[in-house]
Amino acid sequence: MKFSLTILGSSSAVPTAARNTTAHVLNVHERFYLIDCGEGTQIQIRRYRIRFGRIHTIFISHLHSDHILGLFGLMSTLSLLGRKSPLDLYGPAGLEEIVTSHFNHFPDKLLYLIQFHSLEPKGKTLILSDKAVDVFSFPVQHRSPAWGFLFVEKVSPAGGKVPVPRSYAFCTDTLFHPPLIENFTGCDLLYHEATYAASHEHRAFATAHSTAGQAGEMARLAGVRRLLIGHFSARYKDTSLLLAEARVAFPETTEARDGDTIEIPQLFTD
Ligand SMILES: [Zn+2]
Ligand SMILES: [Zn+2]
Repeated sequence: MKFSLTILGSSSAVPTAARNTTAHVLNVHERFYLIDCGEGTQIQIRRYRIRFGRIHTIFISHLHSDHILGLFGLMSTLSLLGRKSPLDLYGPAGLEEIVTSHFNHFPDKLLYLIQFHSLEPKGKTLILSDKAVDVFSFPVQHRSPAWGFLFVEKVSPAGGKVPVPRSYAFCTDTLFHPPLIENFTGCDLLYHEATYAASHEHRAFATAHSTAGQAGEMARLAGVRRLLIGHFSARYKDTSLLLAEARVAFPETTEARDGDTIEIPQLFTD
């Protein structure tokens, strides 16, 4: 049974030649969950051979353009490809109005329903429970209301063995804020934004972002298994410095690169 994450975009505000803006796809038992949808995400979906029809739920962390501008093109394409089944869309309260008014201006209507789900400003909240996962949202500390997501696999015993549930936490644009760790303590894979190097810590604070070192510190404090850093400022042509800074606090860190897939292996209890 699969539990794997594919990176579709790892740049911050603007894309570069090598990095698109934020989007991740989590595959849990061949159910595909799209997390954020930066501009051009549908092209990345094509490029990295993810089947459009498998995406049935989209989560939007916040209403900054580098996290949502790909939504309109992707949603149009899903309709052109003949999608009929409803699409569940989780995001900030304003998202429904943005998406609805956008499509109201076009003569060709979508062939499928959009089911909107507004994220709650309170603490960690169970927002979805289906056959494969429980998904929780949790508010983070950004310039506009923003949420992270925690995905926890649902397991059932197979052949007398009991699988250990796997988990993935997506910690979107946020200030360094240690109290957030209670939302993803001990998870298998933590993605934490790492927009800046330590030399730009003042800039990180001013724009409500984190440095790579702070992302490493969050992973250490939360006791996660692995850390994935991304949302890199386009000013860094070489991101090895960011990786090195995160690894000071947390050696089990990898940097997000567009097209990479990270598999989390299934483990069993004794
Ligand atoms: Zn962003
Ligand atoms: Zn943002």
